[in-house]
Amino acid sequence: MSRLEGRTALVTGAGGGIGRSIVNCFAQAGAVIVANDCDGTRLAELAKEQPDIITYEADVTRLEDVQAMVANVGERFGRLDVLVNNAGVPSRSDFRHLSDEDWAGVMEVNLQGTVRCMRESLDLLKVPGDAAIVNMGSIMEMRHVRQLSAYAASKAAVGALTRSVAMEYASFGIRVNAVTPGYVETAMTKTVLRNEAMREALLSRTPLQRFAEPDDIAQATLFLASGEAKSITGQCLIVDAGASVAL
Ligand code: NAD
Repeated sequence: MSRLEGRTALVTGAGGGIGRSIVNCFAQAGAVIVANDCDGTRLAELAKEQPDIITYEADVTRLEDVQAMVANVGERFGRLDVLVNNAGVPSRSDFRHLSDEDWAGVMEVNLQGTVRCMRESLDLLKVPGDAAIVNMGSIMEMRHVRQLSAYAASKAAVGALTRSVAMEYASFGIRVNAVTPGYVETAMTKTVLRNEAMREALLSRTPLQRFAEPDDIAQATLFLASGEAKSITGQCLIVDAGASVAL
């Protein structure tokens, strides 16, 4: 039996590197997938790869978009088994120059976007009685990297939120966990990882001498979303080739 056979999954930020891998992995596992992104071009490309998915263009920073998207899932399926809050953006300012707008821009997607999608989906997630939410964290919540203070703070908050909502909704059969990746090669990290010196420096501090691939993050997401993780809630699963443990 495929691990998500007959399960309905909503994946945000599905047009990006990690989101795409999650969609491909969930499709192989038998899920019915609603793939969200705010970038319609990316969604159209994804739909060519996975013609059976439903794509839904929406911006997670806009409450009315999120409400309409969740209502659409409700009308089609009457339930939601898996919600993956993967949409995310990096910050790009030294702290001294971080404007209120920069800060809000990052928080609006990474934190409030996750809050909105979780909160608006709760009624649909309660229907199956054994639903799962998987949020996307980052090891930047515990490491310092220049210009990523807003990003780090947003991801630390996602971890705290994951634990709180997990406790509040355990009695409804909703498990809430997060995947916490280290560096993964996607559009988000291309500037850093295509710089050979930077790449070597990062690898030299990474025990397994590799960066996680988008599919590694997708497999961890699938595990937490599936029945194999039925006794796991309120956890953040680090997938970083050992980087956060090394000195
Ligand atoms: P990516 O830039 O390739 O993909 C992010 C996707 O999110 C894009 O398709 C983008 O259009 C979408 N998105 C952005 N704002 C949105 C919004 N307001 N509404 C809907 N969609 C929106 O990045 P990625 O590397 O695939 O990152 C996916 C997730 O993984 C993010 O949450 C990111 O913070 C997290 N993450 C990435 C890394 C990494 O090294 N790449 C490491 C740790 C965590």
